[in-house]
Amino acid sequence: MSSAAPSTSKTTTSPTIRVLPSALVNKIAAGEVVERPASVVKELVENALDAGATKVDIQVQQGGRWLRIADNGHGMTAENAQRAFLNHATSKIMVDADLDTIGTFGFRGEALASIGAVSELTCQTRTADCDHGTQITLSATGEPAITPTGCAVGTVMTIANLFSTVPARLKFLKKAATELGHVEELVQRLALSHPNVQLTLTIDERVAVKTSGGGSLSATFGEVFHIKNPGGDFINVTLMDDGLNYGVSGLTSTPAVMKSQRNHMLTFVNQRAVKCSVMSKAMEAAYQSLLPPGKYPFSALFLTLPLSEVDVNVHPTKKEVRYAQPNVVFGLVKSAVRRALEAAGANTYFAPPVAALSESFVPGVLSASHFSSPTGYSAPSLFHSYPEPRSSTQHIQASIGLYQPANVSTEAPTATAPNGRPNVKVIGQLFNTYILLETPQGLMVVDQHIASERAWFERFKCAEEIEAPISQPLLASTPIILTPKETAIAAEHQSSFEALGFQFSLAVAENTLTLSAIPAVYGESAGSHESPQTWFAHVLNQFAQGDATELPLDDCLATMSCHRAVRAGDVLSHSDMEHVVADWLACTLPWTCPHGRPIAHTIKADELNRFFHRPSLPVSAR
Ligand code: ADP
Ligand code: MG
Repeated sequence: MSSAAPSTSKTTTSPTIRVLPSALVNKIAAGEVVERPASVVKELVENALDAGATKVDIQVQQGGRWLRIADNGHGMTAENAQRAFLNHATSKIMVDADLDTIGTFGFRGEALASIGAVSELTCQTRTADCDHGTQITLSATGEPAITPTGCAVGTVMTIANLFSTVPARLKFLKKAATELGHVEELVQRLALSHPNVQLTLTIDERVAVKTSGGGSLSATFGEVFHIKNPGGDFINVTLMDDGLNYGVSGLTSTPAVMKSQRNHMLTFVNQRAVKCSVMSKAMEAAYQSLLPPGKYPFSALFLTLPLSEVDVNVHPTKKEVRYAQPNVVFGLVKSAVRRALEAAGANTYFAPPVAALSESFVPGVLSASHFSSPTGYSAPSLFHSYPEPRSSTQHIQASIGLYQPANVSTEAPTATAPNGRPNVKVIGQLFNTYILLETPQGLMVVDQHIASERAWFERFKCAEEIEAPISQPLLASTPIILTPKETAIAAEHQSSFEALGFQFSLAVAENTLTLSAIPAVYGESAGSHESPQTWFAHVLNQFAQGDATELPLDDCLATMSCHRAVRAGDVLSHSDMEHVVADWLACTLPWTCPHGRPIAHTIKADELNRFFHRPSLPVSAR
């Protein structure tokens, strides 16, 4: 080893400490704030939104190394514009205490200085009360050049040769497609949290995101994700904890829509897109037993809470947040989503063909008081009340009502017959497995077994939830012969089975069980395939195969339902089909079986018309 130690390792002489030149400081800071092209877009669009812009136009070229962000916000005076590019220069906070009540996107005053340090940046900006604007050109090496210029009110930032001064960063950039993907995802989120802002993202020649800024979340959601009518598959979520001033609102998919990845659960906190594991976990909990394992909902949920209850300053690019009361957040989000699903029920299958969701909804709007005082939190006015529990088949219309401003008619095209039941007609059976229905939306294909299983599950569950389950005695009962393991399970869990409504006596030595009563609901509908004894034996067998130390009640109910339900392959009469459909449509959570398999699929009338080159259905068909 050489005795000459490198200058950075321990030496006996004390090295000289220097204050770094600001250009170098900015370059180092840029490492934190400006990670990739998407971070530049984020900082600049957020500045535009902080400046009150209602229109933001984003252009991206050269895989993200050339960017132009134009806004119609309040712009900057010549004096402010020069200051804006200095380090830690901000108009958004002034004193320490402001840090506890951050209501703007920016506050660090680092972005412009950092971006300027790693690119060639030109800014043109003008305020409304000045008849000319200011142009500032920064280059990573030289002094800023400032000239008066003619331009519209607002600000245009042009970034060229991003990262040309930091080759290391340039090397770490991913493929252009990956970087552009990040930009697109970011703009989608900004668009969703600002439905009242017209946002356009053009990547090279392609318009990747374009929203109309009409103020409606559902319309913006549809525009962003290219969903023509989010009314059918998505429902409104809204719940407010008045005491704490916490609120959650937004859209979530019915379990008919399943995604294989968690990244379709978009979460926003006080209008800021953040990764929030507390909210995601709460959503997964709300969909438990509605989606199969590994499947997730598609949603955009907005949590609003007092600024003093959340710390947004834990991450340099503000992607994560920390809560004062994470349990409250979890509980609120979970109940909001579950209640929304229960309130919507089967009606989501029959949503009117126009957008059925809120029309003038601005997610998580922060009022001016949010920005000024820690105690000045005022609840967004859209949280009027808790949604009603499921009580009629008009839930969708009812939940729309929560969002309707007073001057908008609440009349939506009705999807229900005058008797309040969904307007469906049983056409017949396909492969002795699917029931075909005509609905106002098209041709609905219902899996007869899964639909019936869901209905039985809810019936058993309902009976189990009443304190003393009603049992139905069996008069003559043949003993069931068990395996020794089944005998042990029956003995060990006898009281759990009794809680479900079963009664039996056991002859342990003989491995036999004599059933004397079964849950009364079992007999409520005719057409069981199996004798109660065979049915019970199946349930027992199911548990003998596992190694559960406790009887998992929901699994037990699911097994009971599966064996009690109509089967695939059963030939059903017209009235059998009507019964299966009516029972299923009366379910609170009618989308999937207890293990998450989907129940129904609609081939939309539009799709059929398009295939057959028919512009619309004849009047007599409607
Ligand atoms: P921060 O947003 O944290 O304050 P920035 O470096 O992003 O810091 O911006 C510095 C300042 O420049 C802002 O506080 C704001 O006053 C001004 N500014 C930046 N972008 C714009 C814009 N698009 N329109 C108007 N003012 C802007
Ligand atoms: Mg900023």
